[in-house]
Amino acid sequence: MPGPRVRFAPSPTGFFHIGSARTALFNWLYARHTGGTFVLRIEDTDQARNSDEFLNVIYDSLRWLGLDWDEGPHAGGDFGPYRQSERAGIYREYLERLKAAGRTYEKDGALFFRISGEPQVIDDAVRGRVERLEEKDFVIFRSDGSPVFHFVNVVDDIAMRITHVIRGEDHLSNTSKHVELFKAFGEPLPTFAHLPLILKQSGPGKMSKRDQGALVEEYRRRAYLPEALVNFLCLLGWSPKDDREKMPMAEIIRLFDLPGINQSNARFDDKKLAHMNMVYLLEQAPERFAALARGFFTGLGPADPAAADALAASPDYFLAVMALSQPKVKAIEELPAYTRYFFTEDYPVDPKARETIFAKGDPRTRLAELAAAFSTADFSSDATLEQVLRDLAAAKALKIADYIHPGRLAVSGTSVGPSFFSIYRLIGRDKALRRIERFLGAPDRL
Ligand code: GLU
Repeated sequence: MPGPRVRFAPSPTGFFHIGSARTALFNWLYARHTGGTFVLRIEDTDQARNSDEFLNVIYDSLRWLGLDWDEGPHAGGDFGPYRQSERAGIYREYLERLKAAGRTYEKDGALFFRISGEPQVIDDAVRGRVERLEEKDFVIFRSDGSPVFHFVNVVDDIAMRITHVIRGEDHLSNTSKHVELFKAFGEPLPTFAHLPLILKQSGPGKMSKRDQGALVEEYRRRAYLPEALVNFLCLLGWSPKDDREKMPMAEIIRLFDLPGINQSNARFDDKKLAHMNMVYLLEQAPERFAALARGFFTGLGPADPAAADALAASPDYFLAVMALSQPKVKAIEELPAYTRYFFTEDYPVDPKARETIFAKGDPRTRLAELAAAFSTADFSSDATLEQVLRDLAAAKALKIADYIHPGRLAVSGTSVGPSFFSIYRLIGRDKALRRIERFLGAPDRL
């Protein structure tokens, strides 16, 4: 027996949002879990509201998320075309079937579907038994001859042999119309699974496209890891029934099933997503982390000085700076500010950090001693620099922190950052000494 056939059926009428991504993901997961087929169908019959830009955003977002489709635009398949705008002939054929069954009539130029008058019951895989009575006949072709969503949606689910309709709960109210149509065509019902709503971050109500953090492109622009976003999305309405949250995709595919989908609404939580992303970022190979960073800097554009300076650096230096920053930042988008002093002499100085250092006494003597010691130090490793500093501190009966704090401020303008020795090693002797000298000459500038 062939496996389940599921579909993701977006309308390209807006940017790709978290709710759509979650629906696509759950369909994809079900297909991968069952060895079934994941179909991408573009519901673009509403010509006035569709655009090619939005269509490309759908393809790009799905690819970025790793949700490859087995049938659909660009993939082909036996049940195409996969864009509803190209299926007019198929809709006409199916319309003939309804006409022949005596289930249509015309009124005011529009074509109506005659309902059965019977309550419709579905056994939803998530909601359980749902009963609903359609009380009015409804339009299936508008007076301009274009077919209506309910009609094309059901026709395509029949024609594409869809076995499971997995979609957002906002479509539950349409289902009785759809069931009426399936029955009028004399076709068996697919299994319906209506996914719980995604509530907005705070307050009541479902997340809308306009809510902060609702668009998938935004996470891509911010150089989130798609696997982190996908892992997060899995948990919006599904759980593996233990407390695990971070899971490899193969494990999610193995565990995912319709009974694991929750009935209760899921709340979007951008802090949880950011945290998930950070955990994933931490475990990336430095090369991948640097590649993400490079993509992000490139996206900032050449007019952004932080991007221009970072991208002008040698690839080895860029990689080394990013590898140093990887365990320290929570997100890729922190990198331009976090790494600024590695790429320019024109870095900002944190007035608070300066104040703290000067509150402990004038640091210039310490800095002059540090500069003298480092002027002959071996800059090829953190350990050699550390030894020089330890010797210096011992000779002066001070702690190395007495040198590290002002030394960090002088070369980086801040009191936070990666290891002091790594900063010096990467910046190199010449630049480091010049920065200290500049600081000694004009500590007020800082
Ligand atoms: N085109 C519909 C939407 O964008 C899909 C409905 C369905 O999945 O059946 O919401």
